[in-house]
Amino acid sequence: MAPTDPYTPAGAPCGLYIHLPFCAGRCPYCDFFAQPHAAGQARALIPALLRHLEMIAPLAGGRALAHVYLGGGTPSLLPAQAIAALLEAVTSSLTLAPDCEVSLEANPGSLSLGKLKALKQAGVNRLSLGAQSFEPGLLQALGRRHSPADTRRAFMQARAAGLANLSLDLIYALPGQTRQAARADILAALELAPDHISLYELTLGPATPFGRAYVKGRPPLPDEDTVLAMEDTALGLLEAAGLKRYEVSNFARPGRECRHNQDTWRGGDYLALGPGAHGHLAGRRWAWAADVEAYVAGVVAGHPLLEFSEELTPDQQAQELVMLGLRTAEGVDLERLRALLGQDLRRRWSQPLARLLAQGWARLEPGRLRPTALGLRLADAAAGLFF
Ligand code: SF4
Repeated sequence: MAPTDPYTPAGAPCGLYIHLPFCAGRCPYCDFFAQPHAAGQARALIPALLRHLEMIAPLAGGRALAHVYLGGGTPSLLPAQAIAALLEAVTSSLTLAPDCEVSLEANPGSLSLGKLKALKQAGVNRLSLGAQSFEPGLLQALGRRHSPADTRRAFMQARAAGLANLSLDLIYALPGQTRQAARADILAALELAPDHISLYELTLGPATPFGRAYVKGRPPLPDEDTVLAMEDTALGLLEAAGLKRYEVSNFARPGRECRHNQDTWRGGDYLALGPGAHGHLAGRRWAWAADVEAYVAGVVAGHPLLEFSEELTPDQQAQELVMLGLRTAEGVDLERLRALLGQDLRRRWSQPLARLLAQGWARLEPGRLRPTALGLRLADAAAGLFF
């Protein structure tokens, strides 16, 4: 495969996503590109990332980075020195906006106070901690290698290290989970006073052990009514605690919305680095090879391998904006849509729009199509009206 050649518009800031695919083991529900940590591969990957960074830096076209997101995998498994080397290279190859948000995904079992301080020193200013649940039995069922006490300890240590922007990941609709247990998880998370919570319903990827073992809505998974009740309970508790739903699965205190995710949902631009990393620039999206050895070999040879690369037509970009915007509280920017479609949304998609409004799933406001609370709950069905 040939290296990609995404073109770069001038203007607004962009982002950088770095994928670090190593994990302590494979969780049975996981559908991401991640693999068990192998010290040799990790050692080879860092210099390859530094080399690849030099190659992709010109794609930013001088635009400042508004956010850098280190995802995985479990980036916190790597030594803090490796993360520091990576961020130092990012800072010298690209311009960081003064308030650039630098997020790192972490698992509670892979942190210590010393490591958190070193990560902060390296430039990380936001931590996304994979708590998933505070019930030991559910953590075990999820194949997680940490305890609720590990999560609490890591969270307090992150605060002590001076990390002011902390997020917790939780999953609900788990095998054997009751509504009360789901409520207890939210309350336990809120006790830590996080700035942000990502709350995902368990998904069953067909190629995962969970996907082969379970069927949605059937025991031991909770039925549909119980899942809806879990969502209602969670929404009430999170909103009452000052965490506003700004996307179907994401809640934040004002100003603590995850910038990388927000830009993704707004169809924004971000460069990509690392095996399996996805990028988007001005209507072109691509992913680098989701294979550590192939990725490293490609970079060393001067020809990074692509998993895929595609250029979206303006119409496809508009469709994506509607689909993603209907998942966010801020909704769809109608002027941007008009610029892509060459016509008003009301002309291009008059019938689905009428149905969307009649169902009470969204409302038209000056310059925006904004989902209602009901529309956010039914975001997939709302998007389905259009496509
Ligand atoms: S820690 Fe996260 S990325 Fe790694 S296997 Fe588990 S769910 Fe997947």
